[in-house]
Amino acid sequence: MRIGVDIDDTMCRTTEIVHEYIEKYAQEHHLNDLDIMNDEVLKREFFETYIEQIYTNAVIKRSCADVIRRLKNKGNEIYLVSARSDTFFTNTKHHVLEITEEWLKKNGIVVDQIILDAFGDKKAEICKKYHIDIMIDDNPFNYQKILEKGCKCILFDDRAKYSLDENYATNWIEVEKVVEKNYFDFFHRK
Ligand SMILES: [Mg+2]
Repeated sequence: MRIGVDIDDTMCRTTEIVHEYIEKYAQEHHLNDLDIMNDEVLKREFFETYIEQIYTNAVIKRSCADVIRRLKNKGNEIYLVSARSDTFFTNTKHHVLEITEEWLKKNGIVVDQIILDAFGDKKAEICKKYHIDIMIDDNPFNYQKILEKGCKCILFDDRAKYSLDENYATNWIEVEKVVEKNYFDFFHRK
């Protein structure tokens, strides 16, 4: 099977590290956290300054590397499909792809393909275009759009924010179980 995997808040703790760096930036500039997120100019400057450190230092989620390795060893293809994009930054020195590749290497993760710029409606379209059999994503908007395209999706919800669903996982061990259930269905279709 070809398994699609979102990166931010699915593989790693992005929201948490963004908040850590916002606090740091706020202290440096004598602002408060909300001032930054509510001001488009400050927000842009914050991300321009810290995006590299955020993506580099984001902590991988428990069992993510092991589960991806096991899924790959079973012959599945792993396609990372992410909204990360150089187009969000005027400072082109960031090279989000390279930063992401370094992060994967550091965490011992090997994948078959990395597809970036999958923001807005594009993620669901990419899932269809690349024949992703099952996508794993923490964003309920993506989840819904992917299902509408007739693809399967596991909603990764480790903060228990959304409603329960058959294809719902709160950690990577559960992801593995849901994928395996779909794996069985995939190869035993009549
Ligand atoms: Mg995400």
